[in-house]
Amino acid sequence: MNFKDKVIIVTGAAGGIGKEVVKKVSSGGAKVVLVDLNKEAIEAVQSELSLTKENSLVVQADVSSEENVKNYVEQTVTTFGRIDGFVNNAGVEGPAKPIEEITEKEFDFVYGINVKGVLFGLKHVLPVMKNQNAGSIVNTSSVAGLIGSPSMVLYNSSKHAVMGINKVAAVESAAHNVRVNTVNPGVINTQMMRNIESNVSEDAEAAKHAYNDAVPMKRYGEPDEVANLIAFLLSDEAAYITSSSYTIDGGLFNV
Ligand code: NAD
Repeated sequence: MNFKDKVIIVTGAAGGIGKEVVKKVSSGGAKVVLVDLNKEAIEAVQSELSLTKENSLVVQADVSSEENVKNYVEQTVTTFGRIDGFVNNAGVEGPAKPIEEITEKEFDFVYGINVKGVLFGLKHVLPVMKNQNAGSIVNTSSVAGLIGSPSMVLYNSSKHAVMGINKVAAVESAAHNVRVNTVNPGVINTQMMRNIESNVSEDAEAAKHAYNDAVPMKRYGEPDEVANLIAFLLSDEAAYITSSSYTIDGGLFNV
């Protein structure tokens, strides 16, 4: 896929899905801005993929801080002069517990990253893209943003919020030739699923088998498969797609 000289920001770039997006778009010629809380891990991705200072920038940021978000957007524009693609992807799974047990601190943590991080990312990236009259944004929601799963109220509801934010951002931006879409992964083979498997059961291995069995395709998705979908939505091939939502889950939720 051709991303020659496109400037693309990926948040959660050290994670399973983010890293595969960085790999995919940089191999297509993009200049990539790797944003993550974990600085060492994004530097490791930069070096593993042999990215240079000319075609990549690492910015440590906590996406739940507007100041940090403003900083990664400003650093991108100062370094590369524009923003063509934005993968608003950093996220956390939060606790697995019934509503009655949710604390204010847990709410603020999950919503700070999954909702505030996504919304403020849009707040600071959109003016740059609107000014260019071009850009494509992919917000990572989840199949959890389409359903209600027991004990996952913070994750599920925060991903529903991403769906709503996505729709508003898309209609506010369409006339400026800026496209905004979501991807909704099912169970994908990353650290996040390892965390969920051990949160939902004392026997993480059994939880993994149960998730696996629930998927009609009888396997977890791989992060590079999600990255393929994200890359397509970022690309010029998707020029007429906006305000849409794409589920990638091996048939899990059949929606
Ligand atoms: P992951 O745990 O491998 O990666 C998440 C990344 O986000 C990590 O590198 C982490 O350091 C970073 N991060 C966490 N908090 C941050 C913060 N405050 N600021 C900046 N970065 C922060 O998980 P993943 O599976 O790659 O998840 C990526 C996205 O995909 C998330 O939004 C997640 O909700 C979504 N998703 C994942 C799955 C799945 O099964 N793995 C399913 C549906 C949706």
